[in-house]
Amino acid sequence: MFRKLFAWVVMGCIMLTGVGNAMSQSNPKLMTIIVLLGPPGAGKGTHAGPLSEHISLPHISTGDLFRENIRNNTVLGQKVKSFMDQGKLVPDELVLDMLFQRMENPDCVRGCILDGFPRTVSQAKALDAKLGKKSRIIALNFNVPDAVLIERISGRLICKECKKPYHKRFDPPRQANVCDACGGALYSRDDDQENIVRKRLEVYHEESQPLIDYYAKRKGELREIDSQNSKEQVFRDVMIALSSKD
Ligand code: AMP
Repeated sequence: MFRKLFAWVVMGCIMLTGVGNAMSQSNPKLMTIIVLLGPPGAGKGTHAGPLSEHISLPHISTGDLFRENIRNNTVLGQKVKSFMDQGKLVPDELVLDMLFQRMENPDCVRGCILDGFPRTVSQAKALDAKLGKKSRIIALNFNVPDAVLIERISGRLICKECKKPYHKRFDPPRQANVCDACGGALYSRDDDQENIVRKRLEVYHEESQPLIDYYAKRKGELREIDSQNSKEQVFRDVMIALSSKD
């Protein structure tokens, strides 16, 4: 109990000093774009929500935006559904328009947290071109071996309302299929079935892993996170990674 409290106090200090310093840097006019990298199930979505609250930047998940379009049966939703159902990437032109439009919202003036984007080097280049020199990127790479990911994803449950993630075995809700936080109904994503998860991992290794090199080559942009640790530890590591200058 005391150790837990101590850890949170330490993290509070890091956040109040380091993260603020590192993110505002010498030029407070720079937007901060935090890019969450890593395979499906590595914990990007789990940490994006709390991180967004702590640092007051909006969390933008391209996967969530697509799912919302599918639920609302929009033209975009109809175009992307079959790609998502097969665990394939949606073509760039459909992703870029949707995301860049979202990033024009006033809540992104200081920056944002991108979850699930970029997925390919060509998307990363398009993001660079869109941002120009008015922003800095911090890429957090969440590392977890594939075998752990398959177990994690196939038991995943998500709240329909607030998107809080749970796990049937490792992090179950207090009441079956009901979100502890908001009372919303929990569901399993269609693409979280094991055969589709395997396809998504294959796509990740082929198309998304080169992104790690892309950001590693640029000084200070890539920060590694060991995402096999407990949720609390991973979140602390994220805050520490954001507070380091490079
Ligand atoms: P996610 O919620 O990030 O796991 O994404 C779910 C699915 O949405 C992926 O398997 C892709 O089909 C699609 N998707 C999400 N983001 C992107 C992206 N940046 N580029 C291409 N497809 C994406």
